[in-house]
Amino acid sequence: MYDFTVCGAGPVGSYLAWRLSERGQKVLLLEEHKKIGEPLACSGLVSRNLKGFLPGNFFSGTEYIVEREIKGARLHTEKKTRTFKSDQALVIDRLKLDKLMAKKAEKAGAELVTGARLFSFFESKNKVSLYVKSAGFQNKRTKILAGCDGPLSVVRKNMGISPPNLLHGIFCYTNEKPDSFVDLYFKKVPGFFAWRIPRREGTEYGLACKKNAKKHFEKFSKKLKFSYKKVYSGLIPYGLLPRVTTRRTFLCGDAASQVKPHTGGGLLYGLTAADVASSLIRPDEPDMKSYEREWRNRLAFEIRCGLWVKRSYSMPSPLLNMALNSLYSKHEKRGLEMDRPSSMW
Ligand SMILES: Cc1cc2nc3c(=O)[nH]c(=O)nc-3n(C[C@H](O)[C@H](O)[C@H](O)COP(=O)(O)OP(=O)(O)OC[C@H]3O[C@@H](n4cnc5c(N)ncnc54)[C@H](O)[C@@H]3O)c2cc1C
Repeated sequence: MYDFTVCGAGPVGSYLAWRLSERGQKVLLLEEHKKIGEPLACSGLVSRNLKGFLPGNFFSGTEYIVEREIKGARLHTEKKTRTFKSDQALVIDRLKLDKLMAKKAEKAGAELVTGARLFSFFESKNKVSLYVKSAGFQNKRTKILAGCDGPLSVVRKNMGISPPNLLHGIFCYTNEKPDSFVDLYFKKVPGFFAWRIPRREGTEYGLACKKNAKKHFEKFSKKLKFSYKKVYSGLIPYGLLPRVTTRRTFLCGDAASQVKPHTGGGLLYGLTAADVASSLIRPDEPDMKSYEREWRNRLAFEIRCGLWVKRSYSMPSPLLNMALNSLYSKHEKRGLEMDRPSSMW
């Protein structure tokens, strides 16, 4: 029997499996896709705080994942552009990150099985029985199950937890010469924003919204005059879930909606929660209450603040402009703290 089974080898699942294996736990890591990191559905714009989770050679050695160091952000409304200078953001190669994380997990001792989809599970007093669809891989038993299976989590559904709100994100790559600023365009889509991100070579355009993302994206491409052949897309959960644990099962990452509602970024919050889980949850005496308490201590306040910021995107243009003016006068020089929306006030 495994100590832990982690469902989903996205960045959060692989990181959790890696950390747990390092602590000497027997870990099974299940991934439904054959190839780690695919299909791609992330821009990889993160704060430098990511360095706190990963070894140095991800940032300066052979496993280098950084595509571009960002010098600031331009915030556009219909009338005005405000430029915030800041060197806190990085654009990373998300595919490479996922592959490296899964490799780290395996190297630390986790058993990675790809092409293995968890269909359902049954939790009893001392174990969780897993029903997995995979060629040549049988159903298994585990002491603890971690659902790191993304926005449409099967684990969450089986736990009887209602799904969070979802945005539909869509983006493409163009050959346009990149600079080192990120652009955010407000009032291009209802309730969120569109973006332009410089990559290693070329430039990414994208947006997220609740409905009709494709239609909004076509309109956005006409307005900004870029053309594209292929689009990438995915779902972004947001909002606090009332609970993310049962007796022997817990959620982490997008499955737990541990995401910044004002940007849609989930990497930093998901890794933060995975750190908490790997240090608090023990297979023989699972203390899920501590995990619920501690991840909320670290993230819930910022998620609530992020929800307020996200609401401001729907304000009428004059009000949004006033809010951005006030933000600009306060933060023009030192920039905005990407991971802490509370720092805006
Ligand atoms: C368009 C877009 C742009 C984004 N840009 C950014 C950004 O710039 N910065 C940022 O921080 N975040 C960004 N995000 C969010 C970020 O991608 C997520 O927060 C992050 O991927 C969460 O990682 P995760 O491991 O929790 O989930 P995922 O990355 O979704 O990984 C879940 C894994 O579980 C697997 N899986 C699912 N179900 C099962 C099953 N039943 N059995 C086995 N395996 C299963 C999936 O195949 C997948 O590999 C963006 C998201 C979108 C959609």
